[in-house]
Amino acid sequence: MKAPGNVRVHRERRVLELVWDAAETSLLPFQLVRQSCRCAACVDEFTGRQILDPASVPEDLGLLEAGLAGNYALRIRWSDNHDSGLFTWNHLRSISDKVRSEDSSQK
Ligand SMILES: [Zn+2]
Repeated sequence: MKAPGNVRVHRERRVLELVWDAAETSLLPFQLVRQSCRCAACVDEFTGRQILDPASVPEDLGLLEAGLAGNYALRIRWSDNHDSGLFTWNHLRSISDKVRSEDSSQK
């Protein structure tokens, strides 16, 4: 998966904007991205079962810091002090696709 051309953090709207290319941009709510964290503290690495209770992630979760991990992922530090998750472009892409399919099912 190619890295997005640009990543913007909109703290006031609580969304992460990923510009994949000129034709495609994803807007991902912080809460959803945090709920999708796959680190060892959030997902059991052997069974793949989610340990994190998605309901425990507040809607007003903030993003303190986002930085690149190599050229394959984004490392994010959240306002609940969780920072062990790495969000690969593939993973962020699959979250984007999920958001998109939910959007279209509402129409
Ligand atoms: Zn995590």
